[in-house]
Amino acid sequence: MKTNSFFQKAPVVFSLFLLLNIFSAEVYAQIERIEPPFWWAGMETSEIEILFYGKDIAEYNVSTEEDVVINGVLKTENPNYLFITIETKNLQPQTLHFNFSKKKRVKFTQEYELKERKENSALREGFSSADVMYLLMPDRFANGNPDNDSVDGLMDKLNRSESGGRHGGDIQGIIDHLDYIKDLGATSIWSTPLLEDNDKAYSYHTYAQSDVYKIDPRYGSNEDYKRLAKEMHDRDLKLIMDYVTNHWGAEHWMIKDLPTYDWIHQFPGYANSNYRMETQYDPHASAIDTKYCVEGWFVKTMPDLNQSNPLVLNYLIQNAIWWIEFADLDGFRVDTYSYNDKAGISKWTKAIMDEYPNFNIVGEVWLHNQAQISYWQKDSEIGALQDFNSYCPSVMDFTLHDALGSMFKEAAGWGSGMQKAYGNFVNDFLYPNTNNLLVFLENHDTGRFNEIYNQDFNSYQLGLTLMATTRGIPQLYYGSEIGMRGDKGKGDGDIRQDFPGGWEGDNQNAFEKSERTKLQENFHSFTKKLLNFRKNSKAIHQGELTHYLPENNVYVYFREFENEKVMVILNNNEKEQTLDLNRFQENLGRISNGKDILSGKQLQLEEKLSIAGKKPMVIQL
Ligand code: CA
Repeated sequence: MKTNSFFQKAPVVFSLFLLLNIFSAEVYAQIERIEPPFWWAGMETSEIEILFYGKDIAEYNVSTEEDVVINGVLKTENPNYLFITIETKNLQPQTLHFNFSKKKRVKFTQEYELKERKENSALREGFSSADVMYLLMPDRFANGNPDNDSVDGLMDKLNRSESGGRHGGDIQGIIDHLDYIKDLGATSIWSTPLLEDNDKAYSYHTYAQSDVYKIDPRYGSNEDYKRLAKEMHDRDLKLIMDYVTNHWGAEHWMIKDLPTYDWIHQFPGYANSNYRMETQYDPHASAIDTKYCVEGWFVKTMPDLNQSNPLVLNYLIQNAIWWIEFADLDGFRVDTYSYNDKAGISKWTKAIMDEYPNFNIVGEVWLHNQAQISYWQKDSEIGALQDFNSYCPSVMDFTLHDALGSMFKEAAGWGSGMQKAYGNFVNDFLYPNTNNLLVFLENHDTGRFNEIYNQDFNSYQLGLTLMATTRGIPQLYYGSEIGMRGDKGKGDGDIRQDFPGGWEGDNQNAFEKSERTKLQENFHSFTKKLLNFRKNSKAIHQGELTHYLPENNVYVYFREFENEKVMVILNNNEKEQTLDLNRFQENLGRISNGKDILSGKQLQLEEKLSIAGKKPMVIQL
């Protein structure tokens, strides 16, 4: 029995159970887990399915002391599970009492709390194109509490010398550096997952979760996570949770005692995913290929969840909503979005967006074709061709990422250099909402931009400028702002190195300007200047984008909203270029001057404009 979690989750029941035991020789079922552990009154999702878990719990009959409508009592083939569905629509915040009886005698009572919601909780605003997302891996960002680096009961212990080991970073480390992140100009944080992952090795990435109602104690507690959100909201920053619907870890308590055989996909036995997400819409796909994509496991340590089982789907919906409401979240990033059962993930996404209509969710759709990426965005006409709507507001611009990995190394050509950027945006007509595309140079699964470009500051300036000024939501990966390198070819550990200064005793503290090298400071000050400009530019957040065919490897575009106009020039040519401004008359109109926010210089924009080799300009007109 999991004594610890029992004490944490149901202390009242436990004491009651002891009390009853004194007066009776009968041994009662022990409730080890209740999920969701509590709910809220006044939720759109008012019918909730409460999971009670304990030895032979299914042998009991359940009623409530209050006048609560029980819409369903579901028993599975595993007697340790009982799913009770209640309607909370007209209930006030209160503590409910579930009576568990046998032979018409109440054997024990379980309390269940309906909490009061935060005011206007349903109307919370998610992240948007007005935001800049700072992506960090908590184990690798900063260690704010060395006391939680290793924790009893969790197998993977601190080993900072191992690239795939736990390095000790945590929630307190993030909180300690919120001012740093805000000062840099980011407005939101996407942290990779923080829920418990009790794999015996390689658990630091936390995508193989073992308890999805609990923050991993090596990162902190549920209350710490809530405090992180509060500290962020106090600073006008938004918190985005990395949610995993596709799989759990093999160490998940429910995987070890499956409620139903089909809770996860079994073939029977093991089958790996073929990772071919195109089989989800390929009209010629064979059934077996689609099955192996969707039902195959991502890796052996991550059992694949069966979202076509309504119990599983409902569990995942309630869990996601529980975290939004509990921690006061501003968004989700959903892992391996396009590997999920298509119908299931669409229902999951819709349920969350119905509960919180202004929320935002970005799905990881790692595809290399705009039509296929568009397929997964809410209200996509591409998806509609197959009567599919994911309801997922935001998707990731992976084709731009593909292009960014090479364009700044290339000379002008029909399809090379800046033409790759231009060509990417040409296909924007495929997307229902281009402002809701996540734009990024790299993430925690890819080679680092500053590795690919050998820490070339010019390439970084061009790349970051494009990312921060084109349509969509820019996402910066931690450490990029100080030029951090990382080679995917050397393994994930190399692209997920510790931020220097996040650990006491580090040789250098790059969070502090005074300790940054000259090169690091160049990267940092450029990033800060650009992102802080972006914060207040509505033209960049939501303006029209007009671009011009690149000439001599120079890409020019304008962003316009109401009275604000911004002209962006990316000179990917080694040599200085002089532009004939007459070509841009349709956007420039009668404007004859502007200020380059990067150099701070006032510019005359009458006939010609020169721009140095390998440099960007962001001109506020
Ligand atoms: Ca720690």
